[in-house]
Amino acid sequence: MNDAPVELKDLVKTYVDDRGRPTFTAVKGINLDIKPGEFMVLVGPSGCGKSTTLRMIAGLERVTSGTISIGGKVVNHLEPKDRGIAMVFQSYALYPHMNIFKNMAYALEVAKKPKDSITQTVARTAKALLLDQMMERKPQALSGGQRQRVALGRAIVRSPNVFLFDEPLSNLDAKMRVQMRSEISRLHVELGTTMIYVTHDQVEAMTMGDRICVMRDGLIMQVADPLTLYMKPDNLFVAAFIGSPPMNLLKGKVQKREDGLYFVENAEKDQLVLPLKGHLQELASKYLDKEIVFGIRPEHIGDKPRNSSTMPIALTVDIAEPMGAESIVYLKTGSGYLIARIPGERLYRLGEKITVHLNLEKAALFDPDTQEVIG
Ligand code: ATP
Repeated sequence: MNDAPVELKDLVKTYVDDRGRPTFTAVKGINLDIKPGEFMVLVGPSGCGKSTTLRMIAGLERVTSGTISIGGKVVNHLEPKDRGIAMVFQSYALYPHMNIFKNMAYALEVAKKPKDSITQTVARTAKALLLDQMMERKPQALSGGQRQRVALGRAIVRSPNVFLFDEPLSNLDAKMRVQMRSEISRLHVELGTTMIYVTHDQVEAMTMGDRICVMRDGLIMQVADPLTLYMKPDNLFVAAFIGSPPMNLLKGKVQKREDGLYFVENAEKDQLVLPLKGHLQELASKYLDKEIVFGIRPEHIGDKPRNSSTMPIALTVDIAEPMGAESIVYLKTGSGYLIARIPGERLYRLGEKITVHLNLEKAALFDPDTQEVIG
């Protein structure tokens, strides 16, 4: 079975010092079901516990409480080598004195596989990874991307039930990262093996994951496919973490006016006053005169009206970043700024007053106390 499901149940990790005294709880009771053959990405800021989780699955870190099952079998007490996993790290950890062939064949030789089958497996894998023309080279004669492909190849030849990746691309330059990203995605499609991939890079998470598990402070904030995570974040943390530039989040209050409910920004002057459209009217009704957070993605602030829900508003340009096909424009509001992603090749000047159109139907509302989405 090389598409084993992986199940984490009430998983806790408390690190202890030399005398066994608890020092830090890095994982605080997480539950996660990874389906057979799924590409699951664990993402979150530095220190959120994603590497600790992966290392517990690998068997490199003891579990404090809870269970880890691979292929339906609890593996808490199994040695890493008996878990049917292969791990690819950020540092390639290749053997410097061995050539590519030897590096890839080593684990199979240790497992005493027949020589012919080793040669065949390594040759097939090397070809798939475009390494077959350089099998005699040693790691120091390879580029970063080639080294990472050898490390991948070494994991693939072992035909594991689950691949574990810990930030495997962070040592590569930007162009190589993009290339290796698609290589790993292609491999996943070809092999159909369950893959668990740790990264702090939300672009990597969005482009590679079947599903993404967003972590913060040892807890899971949301697990969903990339689009759901982007379109329907469960809470303020996910709304701010996924998306670049992130979702605009304005603090304010819900106010009743003659023609319905409005969001009114908390600010001394120049406050934004935005009508709540469609289903947001009903959702906001429980928050009358209460604090609320209004969220809108930068691409829903454009230079043209889209439909009857878009509202024109004149704001002053604070910063403008021309990107070529679009501009990222920071517009001043009473309490801070709104970031707009405006298509087109026009340049925006600092201090210029422009009219933007907010697609208010696409907005989201959050409860500042619970930090959760309303609705
Ligand atoms: P990064 O992206 O920076 O690697 P991460 O999300 O992978 O972050 P972990 O490496 O899992 O984070 O660490 C989670 C928390 O546990 C961090 O606050 C870290 O300082 C702490 N930690 C890690 N190892 C130990 C240890 N041996 N003893 C005590 N605390 C530890």
